[in-house]
Amino acid sequence: MGRKITLIGAGIVGVATASYLRRDGHDVTVLTAHPPGEYCSFGNAGMLNSSGCVPQSLPGVLAKVPGYLTDPLGPLMVRPGYALKVLPWLARFVLSAKNRRVEHAADALRALIKPTLECHEELARHAGCGDLIRRSPYLVVYESERSWRGDARAWNLRRERGVVTEDLDAAALRRLVPQLAPIYARGMLVPDQGYVANPERLTKALAAQFQKDGGQILARKVLDIAVGEGGVHELVTDAGRIAVETLVVCAGAHSGELTAMLGEKVPLEAERGYHVTYSDPRLDIPMPVHVSDAKLFVTPMEMGVRIAGQAEFAGIHAEPDYRRAEVLERHMQRMFPGVHGADRTQWMGRRPSMPDSLPVLGASARHGNVYYAFGHGHLGLCGGAPSGRLVADLIAGRKPAVDLAPYRVNRFQPRG
Ligand SMILES: Cc1cc2nc3c(=O)[nH]c(=O)nc-3n(C[C@H](O)[C@H](O)[C@H](O)COP(=O)(O)OP(=O)(O)OC[C@H]3O[C@@H](n4cnc5c(N)ncnc54)[C@H](O)[C@@H]3O)c2cc1C
Repeated sequence: MGRKITLIGAGIVGVATASYLRRDGHDVTVLTAHPPGEYCSFGNAGMLNSSGCVPQSLPGVLAKVPGYLTDPLGPLMVRPGYALKVLPWLARFVLSAKNRRVEHAADALRALIKPTLECHEELARHAGCGDLIRRSPYLVVYESERSWRGDARAWNLRRERGVVTEDLDAAALRRLVPQLAPIYARGMLVPDQGYVANPERLTKALAAQFQKDGGQILARKVLDIAVGEGGVHELVTDAGRIAVETLVVCAGAHSGELTAMLGEKVPLEAERGYHVTYSDPRLDIPMPVHVSDAKLFVTPMEMGVRIAGQAEFAGIHAEPDYRRAEVLERHMQRMFPGVHGADRTQWMGRRPSMPDSLPVLGASARHGNVYYAFGHGHLGLCGGAPSGRLVADLIAGRKPAVDLAPYRVNRFQPRG
């Protein structure tokens, strides 16, 4: 018989997890502070790249930071007032660059996101929006031989895990994406990948289907969690108290606030990113393009072309600084000088990022009736559906297809 499950969060991770749980016959209620798909899952780059198994922190990362911070077109920003607060997270991030940890994280990421296309296609087809999932290669471009060679470790990590790649010279780049500026010397094509043509519509469609299938979504912000002998028994929300039998936390960048209420602190940061969507760019971009040095993606979407990237550490509640979006606009001009920018929108979202680039997935270490799926950082769209399937397997008592040990909630706690 199904359980009564309360799930916090209606981003892609929460909605996908709720969908898989409902499919198993559980009585599932989603509580969310924002309408489905209107928080970080609203505006990402849409990439479903199962090749994206390279953790953010790689050997040599520390040496690159001063260059990133001083380059006006750089991908990283730490607001001065927040620098001290984020230091412990950054220290853990830098420690994650040790070789052994990088290999471990790459294995765990690859295992998680390898089935991303198959999971998303299945969920989207059921929700009547299969058209949103596009199978496609993507292109990675470099302005110099030097920066191309500088990425060799990342490409090896991918290839060692079965990712197929194809080296390209400047002429091949322009054959594939003719409107790309002739400033790129080298590139890499990654076949058999995919993207979502509208991440917001996808999350909303999955949420609507979940409701049609008998699930419930309530607009409630969780303010506190009551814990007793048998684990969590009640949530305090902005619209009253809700009794809980089984709880699943999928609250994106706010999940750390909730796990702290449960006595399980996690080093989770809001790694803020930006996008600019051009509704009439007058460009024909046949596949997503990634500029490795600038850490950004340009993705063709149903509502135009989107450029997305940037990593800004300013705290979860700080107002957006749209100068970061202007940096993306300057990159867009550089990549596609013909871009028509009259009708464009800017956006900021909070990636839920752990310092080792791995999400928190699986059972609570303290409470028998609590499960977690959050902290997917740069890969929450990719990892959302596969994570939901794994958590549903765990709750149903089926053996998850992936070993969940690398994602355990207490991995940063000193061993007792
Ligand atoms: C610029 C940018 C580009 C990106 N590109 C990609 C990409 O191409 N591919 C990819 O895989 N990933 C990408 N990402 C990352 C991806 O968007 C995120 O990892 C993902 O959206 C996180 O989803 P989520 O469901 O965990 O969180 P969110 O979408 O943030 O949802 C969190 C949910 O929790 C709810 N919530 C929070 N606190 C409470 C509370 N106390 N009570 C009730 N509800 C609560 C919120 O209301 C919301 O519904 C990108 C991110 C950014 C910023």
